[in-house]
Amino acid sequence: MGVHGDWQLAARGAMLLGDDGEIRPTIFAEMSALAASTGAINLGQGFPDEDGPAEVLEAAQKAIRNGVNQYPPGLGMPVLREAIASHQARFYGLTVDPDREVLVTAGATEALAATILALTSEGDEIVTLEPFYDSYVAIAGLAKLKHVTVPLKGPNFEPDLDDLRKAVNDRTRIILINDPHNPTGSILPKEALELIVELATKHDAIIVTDEVYEHLVFEDKHLPIASLPGARERTVSISSGGKTFSATGWKIGWITAPHELIQAILAVKQFLTFVNGAPFQPAIAVGLGLPDSYFMNAASTLKSKCEILSNGLREAGFTVSRPQGGYFVIADAAPLGFTDADSACRKLPELAGVVGVPVTAFVRPDHRGPYRSQIRFAFCKRVEVLEAASRQLAGIHS
Ligand code: PMP
Ligand code: GLN
Repeated sequence: MGVHGDWQLAARGAMLLGDDGEIRPTIFAEMSALAASTGAINLGQGFPDEDGPAEVLEAAQKAIRNGVNQYPPGLGMPVLREAIASHQARFYGLTVDPDREVLVTAGATEALAATILALTSEGDEIVTLEPFYDSYVAIAGLAKLKHVTVPLKGPNFEPDLDDLRKAVNDRTRIILINDPHNPTGSILPKEALELIVELATKHDAIIVTDEVYEHLVFEDKHLPIASLPGARERTVSISSGGKTFSATGWKIGWITAPHELIQAILAVKQFLTFVNGAPFQPAIAVGLGLPDSYFMNAASTLKSKCEILSNGLREAGFTVSRPQGGYFVIADAAPLGFTDADSACRKLPELAGVVGVPVTAFVRPDHRGPYRSQIRFAFCKRVEVLEAASRQLAGIHS
């Protein structure tokens, strides 16, 4: 077999190819390209259309001017690791050793990939909530894991505790949660978090928690699973500066975890990117040290944007979810006569000049049924953009 064929085998084995066997861009890349080619408002891929705090932007420029332009240390720059440790203590009362329990990564994406590749063996089981972020299933496929899902149910997209109990067993190596959740905007109830700790302990599994939306919570404060009794020693907590500081292109993420787990993950991470983003690391450190008012304002601004878009979608005739955090709202297009969100999303630029993402992109192909007519829209955009999208969506039908 030629080089081409061998290479395709890796992707096919991990189910990274489309149904037709062709390479497929991620749904986010596809939808951003659709928005660019049609001139439609891009409420598909989740990225803000405004810059983050001036102090953070200035710190990166200053770092570049001051020659912070070469490889940073493998664990990440001390100033950032210290800022991450202080952040965990300040917001969650968690004591983290910046030299032994923190690892800086190329975004949460690399943190997830390095963690899964480092801590699993072929055939292990990984449990995720469903819908799930697209990279989870891609990396689980590359690592040749068995992917077990727990559906988020009902209007609040919560897991059923019995479903959780059924999903975890002695073959489960990782329970991977995402809290606050993309795409549903839900937050895991405390009793679900407690049960996850109990199950992980009983079956000796590792908890991996993706908390990139930790500061974008609309009502209560974020409760990290690592802060629950018994969780700490088996939890890998992942976050990123992209969402919190509106800098998704900087790709500065991080892991906090017990030292032995950090060591295992570092062994893999050093051969993925080795290191990244030298001048952005001290800038994100500045961001993590901003006063409480910055973080409160980020959440409340986003909450009001969520309301603007949700009202617009409701007035247009969608049935709309009530996100508790994050960047996204789920709108069911069935009342408008769209039974297939996959095709509706490809028609929306023409019908309304707006792009969204079908929720089926976040579920297993054999689980698409309940999500068929659901569309994820991003509200992390300027108010005038959300208002324009709402106006354009008013009056559409299939
Ligand atoms: N996890 C979730 C749930 C996300 O929504 C995203 C997208 N921002 C990521 C991980 C990736 O984060 P990063 O851009 O820091 O790699
Ligand atoms: N996290 C972003 C989203 O859910 C997309 C990031 C990406 O394109 N990989 O829209």
